[in-house]
Amino acid sequence: MSYFYDFWDDLVSLLFPRLCFACGNHLLRNERLICTECYIVIPRTNYHNEKNNRVEELFWGRCMIEKAAAFSYYNKGSRIRNLIHNLKYKGVSELGYELGKIYGVSLAASGFTKDIDLIIPVPLHPAKMRSRGFNQSEIISMGIADSTLLPVNVNLLLRAMVSATQTNRSRYERWENVEGIFRITDAQTLRGKHVLLVDDVITTGSTIESCAKELLSIEGVKVSVVALAFAVV
Ligand SMILES: [Zn+2]
Repeated sequence: MSYFYDFWDDLVSLLFPRLCFACGNHLLRNERLICTECYIVIPRTNYHNEKNNRVEELFWGRCMIEKAAAFSYYNKGSRIRNLIHNLKYKGVSELGYELGKIYGVSLAASGFTKDIDLIIPVPLHPAKMRSRGFNQSEIISMGIADSTLLPVNVNLLLRAMVSATQTNRSRYERWENVEGIFRITDAQTLRGKHVLLVDDVITTGSTIESCAKELLSIEGVKVSVVALAFAVV
C-alpha cells in the first residue's frame, strides 16, 4: 500500500510541483514551504543577543526603544526577500506564521521576550488590508506568539486612513510621511506595559518610530521591536 501512496505522491508532485518559496527548488516529501537548505543558509542577524545592534542604532535620537532585533537581512535576491515577497504579494500567509514561529523560538530561548507583556503588529493601511486580505505583520506576530506564548493584540493600535493631502504626494513622500497616522484605542489597557512591536521589514524605521511615539505617549509604556528582516542601507 505504502508503495502505491509513494507513487501517488510522486505523481502529484510531478503534476503540481511543490517548490521552496525561498529558492524555488523542489521540496522533498518531508519538507513544507521552505527547504532544509534554505532553513540552514538564511543568514541570521542574531541581533537579539547583541546590545546596541544596528536595528537599535537606527532609533537612537528618534524614540526610546528598549531593545530591537531582526531575524535576517533584507538584501536584493536574498532568500528571505523571496519569502517576504511571497508572503506579501503572492498571498502565502503561512510563510509569515512559519518564520514568526522559528524566530520566536530564538527570541524566547535568548530571554529577549521574557519581560514583554504583549505583542502588537504594525497595523496595515486599511486599503491594503482590503486588497491583501491579511496583515503580514499580524501573521508574523501569531507565529512569534506560538513560540513565546505572549498575547497578541490587534485592536489597541490602529492606522488611520490616508488623508487627502497625503494622496497628492509622491509615493516616497507618502511612505516617509507616517508621522501621526497611528492612534491608540485604549490607553488604560496599555498603561505600564512593555510592548513588542512586530513588522515584516525595517528599512528607514519611520513606521516603527511613528507607532512607538504613539505608544510612548502613554504613561509607563516601554517599546521593543522585532522584524523578519533588516534592510541594510
Ligand atoms: Zn529553498
